[in-house]
Amino acid sequence: MQSIAKNLKREGKSLGLVPTMGFLHEGHISLVRGSKAANDVTIVSIFVNPAQFAPNEDFNRYPRDLERDKKILENENVDYIFAPEAADIYPPGFSTYITVEELSNVIEGEIRPIHFKGVTTIVNILFNATLADNAYFGQKDAQQATILAKMAADQCAPIKVHIEPIVRETDGLALSSRNIYLSSEERSEAVLISQSLKIAKEFIEIGKYDCAVIIKAMQKHLSGAKTGLPDYIKIVNAKTFHSIDKIEQGGEYFILVAFKFGKTRLIDNLYIDYREEIPVMQ
Ligand code: AMP
Repeated sequence: MQSIAKNLKREGKSLGLVPTMGFLHEGHISLVRGSKAANDVTIVSIFVNPAQFAPNEDFNRYPRDLERDKKILENENVDYIFAPEAADIYPPGFSTYITVEELSNVIEGEIRPIHFKGVTTIVNILFNATLADNAYFGQKDAQQATILAKMAADQCAPIKVHIEPIVRETDGLALSSRNIYLSSEERSEAVLISQSLKIAKEFIEIGKYDCAVIIKAMQKHLSGAKTGLPDYIKIVNAKTFHSIDKIEQGGEYFILVAFKFGKTRLIDNLYIDYREEIPVMQ
């Protein structure tokens, strides 16, 4: 991959990278289109990264279908698919890990202690393997995207990290490869997650900025689910991921929801940019 990338760079081509774990959906495709629009060459990596799954998580049952993914990416005219084997990425004796301190220990990092260390380690390898100029990540995994942008900045990586909006089903459910795990009853209740974020948005639009009040309304809405339970609802500073009490002008925030249907954990969020007069949300 790296020698191909070197040749492309020698030809003066700009390279865009879309890291994924495969089982592609429209969320991934929107990142691919973002990359295609801004780069001469687009590389999509497909790698279910064992280092970011704890032993009790879903590494083994994570959905995989490389043939299907290939067809989707061929239709999108993607230039390269980089789908290495775990043994090539982590050969015996592999011992170098990248960690973004602090940000990796809060919220998702508290629940999944090794997760972000695995993510930053693989993404750094992908940056080095592909020599990409631009990399595309989804706001869907807001903390991950923030950590990766921080990693690139702290390490002076010669790559620009782009964070793209969340792609949703028509009923509002954020697309995720894990949605396939849901039973039909769970799937119909999963819509409550994005609806709870919509309620939060409406509160903020009418100037209700007290986080306890917003979270309570979200909790109430989510309690309508019979087949699942919220793991957490948090309102955090978008830079530190520390919880806040009040949404204030001058700040950027995320409202984060993690929701569990049995072993299936779904996450979603709302970004609030309140640096100007009026909060802009997406
Ligand atoms: P994954 O294959 O789940 O590791 O995701 C690969 C990339 O796609 C990550 O940057 C995700 O944040 C992004 N992504 C996943 N779901 C969505 C979505 N619904 N909308 C936008 N981006 C997404």
